[in-house]
Amino acid sequence: MPMEATSTTDALSGPAREFLGRAPGRHFIGGEWLEPAGGATFQTIDPATGAPIADVAQGGPADIDRAVAAAREAFEGAWAKTSPSKRTGMIWALAEAIKANLPELAELESLDNGKPVTYAKGDMAAAVNHLRYFAGWPTKIEGETLPVSFPDAHVYTRKEPVGVCGQIIPWNYPLLMAIWKLAPVLATGCTTVLKPAEQTPLTALRLAELIADAGIPAGTVNVVTGDGSTGAAIVDHPGIDKIAFTGSTVVGREIGAKCGQQLKRVTLELGGKSPNIILPDADLDRAIKGSFAALYENTGQVCSAGSRLFVHSSLHDRVIEGLAEFAVQAKVGPGLSEDTELGPLVSAEQHERVLGYIDSGTSEGAELVTGGGVPAGNGISEGGYFVEPTLFSGVSDEMKVAREEIFGPVLVALSFDELDEVAARANDTDYGLAAGVWTRDISSAHRLAAMIRAGNVYINNWGMGDPSAPFGGYKASGVGREKGHANLDAYLEVKTVTTRL
Ligand code: ADP
Ligand code: MG
Repeated sequence: MPMEATSTTDALSGPAREFLGRAPGRHFIGGEWLEPAGGATFQTIDPATGAPIADVAQGGPADIDRAVAAAREAFEGAWAKTSPSKRTGMIWALAEAIKANLPELAELESLDNGKPVTYAKGDMAAAVNHLRYFAGWPTKIEGETLPVSFPDAHVYTRKEPVGVCGQIIPWNYPLLMAIWKLAPVLATGCTTVLKPAEQTPLTALRLAELIADAGIPAGTVNVVTGDGSTGAAIVDHPGIDKIAFTGSTVVGREIGAKCGQQLKRVTLELGGKSPNIILPDADLDRAIKGSFAALYENTGQVCSAGSRLFVHSSLHDRVIEGLAEFAVQAKVGPGLSEDTELGPLVSAEQHERVLGYIDSGTSEGAELVTGGGVPAGNGISEGGYFVEPTLFSGVSDEMKVAREEIFGPVLVALSFDELDEVAARANDTDYGLAAGVWTRDISSAHRLAAMIRAGNVYINNWGMGDPSAPFGGYKASGVGREKGHANLDAYLEVKTVTTRL
């Protein structure tokens, strides 16, 4: 369905504009573009202006039925007959297709999500790398021959794909998170019904076209758009064997409970309130620069953001000063402007939430060092969802801004004196996704790395990820791991075959 150009869509290149003219408004099911069964659509919004970009299909139970049937047919048919070596070729071809269309995908992502287009290009490059890593796996998924202790027996295991998956994607890294989900599906021989977030459906729809171009059999990957109710219809569908979800902890708990009841396999990648710790002997320039990026990148909309900054009391004032300087200098603006460093938040809802947390910080007595408001000027539209990079110091552990995930450009700084003290305070949270330590002392670094209950610990960096390195949460931050070969197990069943000779 064609749409009205908003002021920022004028900045798009030809290919991105052509895509907007042809694709949105339908689901990609069984290799075809199908109208939503109920005929309903919703609008995806440009966060830089608040204006609608395109009408997108609202998926309901009838659409999910069709998608699951297509996925089941591929799982038992064409995809099951595709050899591991051919799967490798197709995953690699998809990586190449993303690379060949990288500027267009980055523009669509920037338009739909609000993130700086330069940053979106980095997301796309990471998606290419991710697929390349997983492309190697299909030919290397091996069972074992077991040394059993009874005579005249031959016992071995087979690793088999778990089946039809339902994959629910968040809006903060729309294409990259879709690729994190898809890559292990394709590597293991599963099939999927994938739903992008309602705020950011565009790149998943463009991806569906590239999946067809890569020669991946129809029905292997089905893309259904819609909101939370569409996600719930996927989770509830009895034809789905496994759910993979990335999103809020509230929804993750609900999905986990439903999957437990139905005994569906499930992996969950949820929220965080990750401690980032600057020890007294840190390389201060690196620590300040790294800690700034740890929170403000992607306008703070990162599950693993370094959102609780613990600064040793001896460095406190220098660190706060350094961070404030970065915050004041950061270029806030529309994502499609090449020099933007911080784009808008994704939606009006997030905008309101984040501003609410800023009010809460002030009213609980934290010191507002910089930011706190809605910026203006510099090509910033009044209808956009912008928030100034905001820094609170003098924050104490019980304040709401120190306990709850804000998911916006709001950093809270706390001060500490001892290693054991900071480890205990860092762990005093329901979450356990990531943690950071800045120090030149290898003993302190690795001692803290062992003490902190989180799935990812970054020493003298924040968020340096790689497709080979598992990512996921302890406690309320999730169940299971994505990335690395650990991720394959979530998509495989182990079958033991016992033979009496
Ligand atoms: P946020 O609150 O930050 O938007 P959500 O956890 O609500 O994050 O959304 C993440 C993804 O989960 C989106 O694709 C959304 O449509 C989907 N979703 C939301 N609610 C549900 C639900 N009850 N069941 C399944 N999926 C859901
Ligand atoms: Mg949008």
